[in-house]
Amino acid sequence: MRSLGVKLALWYGVGVAALLLLLGAFLYAAMDRYLTIEAYTLLRAQAVPLQRLAQQQVHTPAQLASVARQLVERPTANGIGVYVLGPGGRVVAGSRAALVQLPQGPGALQALPSGAAKTEVVNRAGVRYLLLYQPLRAGGRDIGALLLTTSLEGVDRTLHSFVGILGIGIGATLVIMSLIVIGLTHAGLKPLRLVAQKAGQIAEGDLTQRVDASSAPSEIQRLGEAFNHMAGRLQESFQAQRAFVADASHELRTPLTSLAGYIDILHKGGKDEPATLEHVLSTMRGEVQRMARLVSDLVALARLDAGDQLQIRPVDLTRLVEDVYEQAKALAPSREINLRASDGLWVQADLDRLRQVLLNLADNALKYTPPTAHVNFAIQAVDTCAQVSVADNGPGIPPEDRDHLFDRFYRAERSRTREKGGAGLGLAIAKKIVEAHHGTITVSSAADGGTIFAIRLPLASPPATL
Ligand code: ATP
Ligand code: MG
Repeated sequence: MRSLGVKLALWYGVGVAALLLLLGAFLYAAMDRYLTIEAYTLLRAQAVPLQRLAQQQVHTPAQLASVARQLVERPTANGIGVYVLGPGGRVVAGSRAALVQLPQGPGALQALPSGAAKTEVVNRAGVRYLLLYQPLRAGGRDIGALLLTTSLEGVDRTLHSFVGILGIGIGATLVIMSLIVIGLTHAGLKPLRLVAQKAGQIAEGDLTQRVDASSAPSEIQRLGEAFNHMAGRLQESFQAQRAFVADASHELRTPLTSLAGYIDILHKGGKDEPATLEHVLSTMRGEVQRMARLVSDLVALARLDAGDQLQIRPVDLTRLVEDVYEQAKALAPSREINLRASDGLWVQADLDRLRQVLLNLADNALKYTPPTAHVNFAIQAVDTCAQVSVADNGPGIPPEDRDHLFDRFYRAERSRTREKGGAGLGLAIAKKIVEAHHGTITVSSAADGGTIFAIRLPLASPPATL
């Protein structure tokens, strides 16, 4: 696994090396051209007086041979060779400094356009030479040419040194740049290493770990904030889970303990007294039923938590509320229970789950209020929602309890000691179900001190078949 720093250094290295090589090639070509032009200028400066002299003294090709030696022996700048060529390119005379072996045959000279000078670079035994052909004319005819040569060895040496210096320069630049990139990346990624370290500690179970990225660049700061938020949520959900498991175990232990107690009573002779046996067995059945309800509530919650699919279809909410109202009346015939319903309010919902919510509200209203208290069901359209309310004029719920009513296993102080009090899961399940339907559930105090639970669900149109 290669580090980001090394990877960046490699990519930057390739890019910078390509740019430097391009620049180097350009400089090399420019330098070669400049130095060659300099050599040419030198040759040209030598050629011009020789040409003038030759053209003053030579008028026919025959006269060329007699003047040739005089021409080639005239002193020239160091390293410059001079040849005098006859009309066919034949060498008439050559100076001592004419180091270069001439191109074979007269071709080069014949190829010259009449009267125009020509340069050429030739390679002899690994050394480059610059050749300048300077045609000689007399009486309107070509009578031969001067050929001046100079070695480009000096130019090549300079170019070689330049390549060497360039190579060292590029190499050193790449090394320094790589070190800087690796160093900067290493320093820049320090907060990320910290995040990784903290994530490791969290994974090992220390959920209190947080990252301080306040002095890091803004991107890392945002990562740090997101990480801390995630760690906070994880911690909360772990704590909630632990509390849930503790509460669930506690709730299950209570009926189990009492069952064990009743079994002891039966063992110690209770089973021989018919009245005691009857009482104990019916109480035990009650405990078992309580436990079975608790377990099924826990399963329902776990399914809702896991995002269990709802069986959504059009539901006549008015009908459902009427059903629950009838059930409540059947459960508590002596109670005053009322219904105020607007007809034909439909919602998209899971009928059984919604029934479960309303039954829990009805059950609570009957369970936590005195027998004289009224219970009022109502259903009406409010804006784009259907609102169902279950209100009672019982003792009400203190504000400090109201904030926690929808928490799992929460029971208001008064009902905790009561025998009829449930596990405190009904409203938590109701909230989950209502929210899964994109609705809301709220609790408030009625004017006469009772309690109102209100559910709002988005209204839907009735099915087309109706
Ligand atoms: P479960 O519904 O799981 O059998 P539960 O009825 O105790 O148990 P919830 O339905 O969640 O649980 O209700 C939570 C608590 O809210 C109840 O214990 C009770 O104290 C209080 N409560 C609910 N409805 C009313 C009401 N209408 N009047 C007074 N208190 C209420
Ligand atoms: Mg309840």
